[in-house]
Amino acid sequence: MPEGPSVRKFHLLTSPFVGQVVAKAGGSSRKINVKDLNALRLQDSQVHGKNLYLAFTAAEDPLGPTAEETVLPREAASGESAPAQEGLAQVCASHTRPQDEELQELQHSRSEASDAAEGPGNWLRFHFGMFGSIRANEFSRANKANKRGDWKDPTPRLVLHFESGGFLVFYNCRIHWCSSPRADPASDILSVEFHRGQALDALRAPNPICCTLLDQKYFSGLGNIIKNEILYQAKIHPLTQGSLLTLTDLERLLDCAVQFSSDWLHSKLHGKRLHPQIYQKEQCPLGHAVMKGTFGPPRGFKRLTWWCPQCQPLVLPGNGDPSLCRE
Ligand SMILES: [Zn+2]
Repeated sequence: MPEGPSVRKFHLLTSPFVGQVVAKAGGSSRKINVKDLNALRLQDSQVHGKNLYLAFTAAEDPLGPTAEETVLPREAASGESAPAQEGLAQVCASHTRPQDEELQELQHSRSEASDAAEGPGNWLRFHFGMFGSIRANEFSRANKANKRGDWKDPTPRLVLHFESGGFLVFYNCRIHWCSSPRADPASDILSVEFHRGQALDALRAPNPICCTLLDQKYFSGLGNIIKNEILYQAKIHPLTQGSLLTLTDLERLLDCAVQFSSDWLHSKLHGKRLHPQIYQKEQCPLGHAVMKGTFGPPRGFKRLTWWCPQCQPLVLPGNGDPSLCRE
């Protein structure tokens, strides 16, 4: 298996193509739809450990996130870059005075604006097998005959022809979409290695479900827009404690998370805009008035949350008081 240094060499081969648009994609990979890469711009190339990561974005999408933006929102979601929110009290929409809300809107405008560029990740992860390799502007040729005596050239998993006329060829590697180069595949909602059991255990905690969903330790790649949309789809109130929900409810919520994220990734790669059902809406699709509140751990990062009190009734514990998110 190629070790770190070999993968770094592969990285050097890809670097000159960063910024270029894929004119034609081909190859034998069945883990991804190679045709999805047509007309996308190679936005970034990174190496982490033994994996190579390539980011793609819609070539004609002027609002597409820059390489920097694809990294920043995730840090924001984990609360590391939000000192301004420190000390803000937990509030429910029903208790919020208009001037408070205005202030919070202002304090959150930066993070909410970045939600638009956030979305699911658009990174391809390449994991190289024993004979894995990358070639730039050349194909690998057979250097000996196979058992039948044929001189058959190796079959590339992926070939990316760029508009410049150059091309990259990938051999003997596993290719998957993922949320971010730094994501643990087991907690990455876009990864085929996403661990549902671990995610279900996290959701079952006696903590408001809207806070658990944003915990990047368990749901890397899941941001504020996805949180709002999947809670609406699954008809779950954001402040419901995970421990009060049935396993069926939690399974459905996970299904929504995975499906919504991969659908969003697909439309994002094709330069299509997302049409939220509840996020930043005044009415739900059924015409009910939507509520808005700012929820998060007592000393952590608070995020604006929209929900429909009719479609998403609150399940209360015995004492009838929804508890705050734990830190
Ligand atoms: Zn509704």
